[in-house]
Order: sequence, then structure tokens, then C-alpha cells
Amino acid sequence: MCGIIGVVQKRGQVAPFLHQALKRLEYRGYDSVGVTTIAEDQLHMKKDKGKIEEVHMKLNLDEMPGSIGIGHTRWATHGIPSMYNSHPHFDCNNEIAVVHNGVIDNFLELRKELASKGHKFGSETDTEVIPHMIEDYMADGMNLTEAITEVTKRIEGTYAIVAMTTKEYGKIVCTRDGNPLVLGRKEDTTYVSSDIPAFLPMTSDMILLLDGEIAALDTEGVVIRKLSDGTVVDRETIEISWTADQAQKGGFPHFMLKEIHEQPDAIRNTLRLKPEILQDAAQLILESRNVYFLAMGTSGHAAIAGKHMFASLAGILPRFELASEFPDTVYGALSENDCIVAITQSGETTDTISSLKYAKGFDTKVIAITNVVGSSVTRIADHTIITQAGPEIGVAATKTFMVQLTSLAQLALVLGELTGSVDKRILKEKRKRLEKLPEIISEVISRNEEQARRLAGLLHDKPSLLFLGRGISQATSEEGALKLKEIAYNHAEAYSAGQSKHGPIALVHDGYPVIFVAPRDETRNRIIGNIMEMKARGASIISVIERGDEELESLSDHLFTIPSGIDSEFSVMPYVVPLQLFSYYMARRKGYDPDKPRNLAKSVTVL
Ligand code: GLU
Repeated sequence: MCGIIGVVQKRGQVAPFLHQALKRLEYRGYDSVGVTTIAEDQLHMKKDKGKIEEVHMKLNLDEMPGSIGIGHTRWATHGIPSMYNSHPHFDCNNEIAVVHNGVIDNFLELRKELASKGHKFGSETDTEVIPHMIEDYMADGMNLTEAITEVTKRIEGTYAIVAMTTKEYGKIVCTRDGNPLVLGRKEDTTYVSSDIPAFLPMTSDMILLLDGEIAALDTEGVVIRKLSDGTVVDRETIEISWTADQAQKGGFPHFMLKEIHEQPDAIRNTLRLKPEILQDAAQLILESRNVYFLAMGTSGHAAIAGKHMFASLAGILPRFELASEFPDTVYGALSENDCIVAITQSGETTDTISSLKYAKGFDTKVIAITNVVGSSVTRIADHTIITQAGPEIGVAATKTFMVQLTSLAQLALVLGELTGSVDKRILKEKRKRLEKLPEIISEVISRNEEQARRLAGLLHDKPSLLFLGRGISQATSEEGALKLKEIAYNHAEAYSAGQSKHGPIALVHDGYPVIFVAPRDETRNRIIGNIMEMKARGASIISVIERGDEELESLSDHLFTIPSGIDSEFSVMPYVVPLQLFSYYMARRKGYDPDKPRNLAKSVTVL
């Protein structure tokens, strides 16, 4: 994910506007920033790694000539955040500038082909193949629109591309497939951006661009064509009634709710992880004597689920340790034959980093699973898996949890193939069902959101709630309880349902809310026993169950339901969603801001 802006205006300096527009897009990515303008037949460029204001302090992004320009705020996927990897990227002659959002899957092969023709590359990004390809097509006599059309026939992956060239002064061309771009128009100025807030202070007149379309912008307006046959598309202008703040949140009242709704896309993108990345990680694990998962908070819940996935799909049982406690748990019993899988959303979690440094003192191997390219954990790790959630702004993790689970599920399937502990055909079927999860989770959201809001209305004043699950669903209930504590400030405790009768049951009295995570898996019958125990003490039972599970339905006072046919190993992903929504609506009902919970930070950088 990243933020893109492009503007063609008749006169005046465009750079100060590009700078402000990028700030409004910073929520989409913020590891580097870059701007290119055209003036006097030349491209002018300023770019560097760092947040927009840091780079502006250094380079003064407002001081650039020209009334036409493009800008980018990056969320790195290929190549660490650095000046060279920052967008825009250029052709060999510095005549074509390109910004890109997304991933070009076949960039290595294209890069090799271009290098063999003599193209020189200045970055490690996938993006840079695009300006060099445009350069070749334009050298063959094509104009910018034709050249980009040809490029889209060769690239595989997802993209939003915005480009301009000194050879066609006055024009910006853009296209998309799988990543957003919207167009804006006011008098003789035309805008393109990843998202409406970028140009909303200037105009509320928006024109949609759809996947498979290409648009040429100039001061006269926009011409949209279909990429497939070049026919011109007649598209009406829509007037936007959102405020800038509403628009930045995509119309949702909070980033957290927006990010819950983004989970299907985040999973889809993470399912496209390169097989080699998973294979290499799997090899490291298989060569190791002991395998540890190290993580904190929500990432720790992904680790608990990961343990079940590895055991069930690959016959490997890793140990999960809280990163903060690791040196005091392992007492130096580590070696170069051991392997740690470290899970950290930000890649900067100090508890995790410091334990990894400790483990590196024993030459222990490290695999990192993180959402941030170039973060500290990636520099310590022998091997890194980058999850593809894009930036998460809400402090309480939602979509980053989902992509951690997606990565672990894929890794477990690859391990399973290598260990042979589960029949290959069964693994193949499971992989297919994993790929269906984005659609299933969309359905889970739409079917449970209203119920989450309703239950928040009933339960918001309960001082304490118990979350119970068995097997892999312990991870789900732990995460449900954590979310509620984090943003709604209710006391909530998660327990293994089996363990609940060894203590916590003493808390239960008439009307005490107990939330059961009860998928139809091998734990179901024992969960029924636990529900009966709680009911006998007057508990109010809220269950997350498979739709159509009548027996559990009849035992519950309130329900969230999940479609049938979910593999036990992947069940945390759909089953946690109603609990995320429930916490969100509890926080709202109690008047708290779910995006900014008190005492918490997005990236925990203290021990
Ligand atoms: N894949 C490109 C890069 O790593 C674009 C990433 C983005 O969408 O910001 O530079």
C-alpha cells in the first residue's frame, strides 16, 4: 500500500500542493517520500526515506519548479526504505517518471530482460521495470498511453501506476489493476490519487477509474480508455459529500473499523507470497533441532495458533515463548541448531528484538514474520516473511493479526508437504479452502456487524467477561479478550475452557457473560460440557459457532455465526472477526476512541 498523487494545472507551482496532498495520504505508507515535477523540458526530483515532514525539513519539498507533478509516499514491499528505492523511478535518460502502488510479481524476469538490453537500474524495487519498459516502447514510436498499455500486457501482479514524460509535456497517464486510483477535476486542474482526501480540499468532483482502464489527464480534463481495446469510456463526475477526515477513513468512522473491513484484501495479498520465501523458511525450520515462536501481545496469539497449525499439518510442535521472558526461560539452552520464528507486526517490538539479539549470541537461526520491510527484525533475521497488510493505523491490531495467521498457515502447509505427515491431496484441498477465506471473512463481517453492535448495547456495563475456547480456539479467545481490554477497558479474561473449572468458574454468577469460541471441530463436544457447567451457575452464554449448529444454538443466549466448512487449522481467522467487531462497538458504546486507546502505542519500543 502507498499513497500516490498526480496533478496537471495550467500555471503556478504545483509542489506545495503535492506536499500537502501526500500528507493527507501518509496513512497509506510512510517509510519514504518522493516528488517529481516537469519544468523547462526537464524532470526535477526530490526523494528520500523517512516521514514526509522529515524529508521536507531536509529537502524542502515546496521548492520545485513546474505546474505538473507526481508524488508518492511509500510502504516498501521490494527493497528497504532508502533514497534509491523511494519513488518516483525513472528510465535511463531521466525523461520518464513513474510512481507505483502494488507488487509486480514477475519483476525479476523483466528486470533481467531489460538489463540484457543495456538498461541500468538504480533501485531494488519491482517498480523500476516500468519506466524502463515505457522507455523501450516509446523508442519504438509509441506515445505514453500506448506504451503503458503495452506494459500492462507484460506485468503480472497488482498495480496503480501514474507516469509522465518530458516528451509529452502537459500530460499525466495512469492505470490500475487491483490497487486504487481516483480522478478529480476543478476548472483547468486535473488530479489523480490513491484516495479522495488527497485532493478533497481543492475539489469534491471525483471521477472513478476502474481496473483495466487507462486515463490521460491534462488541463482540459481526462480521457479514459479501456486497456483491452482502446475504446473511450464515458464516465460521469460524482460529487463527494464527505469531509476530509471521513474520506481518509474511507467513509468509516474509525481506522479500526476500516481495517477490520480491509481484512479480506489483506489476506488475499498475503496469499500471494512467493513460494520460494515459504520454502526457504520451511527448510530452515526442518534443519533445526528445536523450533521456538517468540512474540508479544496479538502476535503471540498468532503464535499460539501457528503452533497448532504446524503440529496438525506438519507434525512439528514448536514451543511458544513470550519474547519478554525468553532469556529467563531458556537459560542459555540454545544453539546454532535451533530456530526462532519471531512474529512482530512493526518489526520494532523491543521485547522481541532484544531476545533475538540474545539468541544470536548462540548463533540461533531466526525467521521473522513482520509487516514492515526494512524494520529492525529484518536486519537480525536470517530469513524474513513480509506480510501484506499495508499500514495499520488503529493501535489495536486487526488486519496485521489476520496476515500473520495467513503466513503461518501457508508456512504450515509447505512444511506439511515436506514432512509428509499429512497426505498431499488433503493439504492441496486445505490450501484451496484457505484461498476461500477472504470471501468467507467478508461474509462474516457483513453478517455479524449488527449483532456486535447490538450485544455491545447489552453488555457494555458488565465489569468483567470471560472468554473460553479449546484447542486452537484458545488463540481466538485470547485475542477476543485482549481486544476488549485494549480498547473498551473492560476486564476480560481468556482461559482454556478445560481449565475454567479449576478456578475462574468461582467468578461466575447470575448474568455473568461468558463468551465461547466453539467451532464444529474435535473440541466441540467437550466445549458443550463447559457451556453446561457455566449455564448451571447462571452465566449468560455468548457463542461464536458454525451456522446451523442447532445444539450449540439452543444452549446460547446470544450468537455470532460463521459459515460451515472451515478447517480447524484456519478457524481463528473467521472466528476472531466477530470478537474484533464486538470490542470495537463496546469501545464506541462506552464513548472511547477505538483508534487511540489510553496507555498503548502501536509499536512497543520499551522493555
Ligand atoms: N512495490 C513497490 C515498492 O516496494 C510499491 C510499494 C507501495 O505500494 O508503496 O516500492
